[in-house]
Amino acid sequence: MKILVAVKRVVDYNVKVRVKSDNSGVDIANVKMSMNPFDEIAVEEAIRLKEAGVATEVVVVTAGVTQCQETLRTALAIGADRAILVETEVELQPLAVAKILKALADKEEAQILLLGKQAIDDDSNQTGQMLASLLDIPQATYASKVVVADGSATVTREVDGGLETIALALPAVITTDLRLNEPRYVTLPNIMKAKKKPIEIITPESLGVDIAPRLKTIKVEEPPKRSAGVIVADVAALIDKLKNEAKVI
Ligand code: AMP
Repeated sequence: MKILVAVKRVVDYNVKVRVKSDNSGVDIANVKMSMNPFDEIAVEEAIRLKEAGVATEVVVVTAGVTQCQETLRTALAIGADRAILVETEVELQPLAVAKILKALADKEEAQILLLGKQAIDDDSNQTGQMLASLLDIPQATYASKVVVADGSATVTREVDGGLETIALALPAVITTDLRLNEPRYVTLPNIMKAKKKPIEIITPESLGVDIAPRLKTIKVEEPPKRSAGVIVADVAALIDKLKNEAKVI
């Protein structure tokens, strides 16, 4: 069984991004880039399924600029077998990525398509859902546990009220949530081994997909600054403020 994992290169989660002075977006020049944390969890899960003898091959894919190869090397160092970069300078929106992934899923005949629940840069939370729709196959989003056996997957999902467990026929799309696993540290020997693993570089055109953006960003703004808090003298003063100023009790 083949697993296709989608990984995105994003601004590292420790970086505090700044809005550009013309409000056209955030400044990502010279900032640290890393693999989207939810995608690292997806790669880890795929490797665990391979180690458990469920999967036979783990293929990682990313769409974006040349530098995305670094992200693929990290995924290969975690343990993926091979990688595909769909190279483009065009700004990719979730629908475009979903179309690219659909074309690759068809070509690779993958049984499980693993994605992060959302990318921490655009926070769209759309690609997995769009991919399942384009492929017309089942989906399980926000997975916190995945068990695969006999051509189906049993996925525990994090939902508002708690946990929901569903069974899906394969092929299926699964998107990862934070509690699914804790990704392993990448060791030096594995980084060295990853250098020898293949990265195939193709273009969106070769997949026959239209990746033209459908959405236009009108304006990006900083969130409003929060005003400073006050320290109250005692519990009585706090209760008084909650009752008479905030009027919440
Ligand atoms: P989003 O819908 O943008 O929040 O992204 C959800 C998930 O889709 C990510 O966690 C990735 O697994 C995948 N994804 C989004 N953009 C890309 C990309 N450019 N290349 C590969 N995978 C992507």
